Amino acid sequence: MAAIWLEWISVKKIHTKAINERSRVMIGRMPDCDIYLEDPHISRNHALVNFNDGIFQVRNLSETNPIILNDRWQIDFNQNSALRPGDMLTLGKIEIRVAASQSPSGRRQAPVIFKVRCPGCDRVLESDLVDCPWCQASLAGAEALIFHPEERK
Ligand SMILES: [Zn+2]
Repeated sequence: MAAIWLEWISVKKIHTKAINERSRVMIGRMPDCDIYLEDPHISRNHALVNFNDGIFQVRNLSETNPIILNDRWQIDFNQNSALRPGDMLTLGKIEIRVAASQSPSGRRQAPVIFKVRCPGCDRVLESDLVDCPWCQASLAGAEALIFHPEERK
């Protein structure tokens, strides 16, 4: 059976979801979505990914928010687009990568280390902190940084 994987980063963690020919995967801001994404520019039921006519495809269910495919193409309300490994979907600020296997770039064998960059003082901090210990800025919206241990010097 054909399958693809979706991979995205949310709340500073990498998530993956397998999709096969029988899947109907709802992506959106409703907590009961199969892929639940918290972002103000994501609609409650934003996108549906399924297998149809021999291909995986994504359909935009949002009248207000587009889906961007590969940084260039806009998928509007009620439009479908084929999904192939290597594609990238952007919903709100969240990027979802389409991969052919669960280990898309062969780098998933090693554990990944998450840190955050303090928006107040630019220091790189542990991702489990709530506030910056240096400048007390809230880290709730801080940029997530991902380190692959084998790449560190
Ligand atoms: Zn700080």
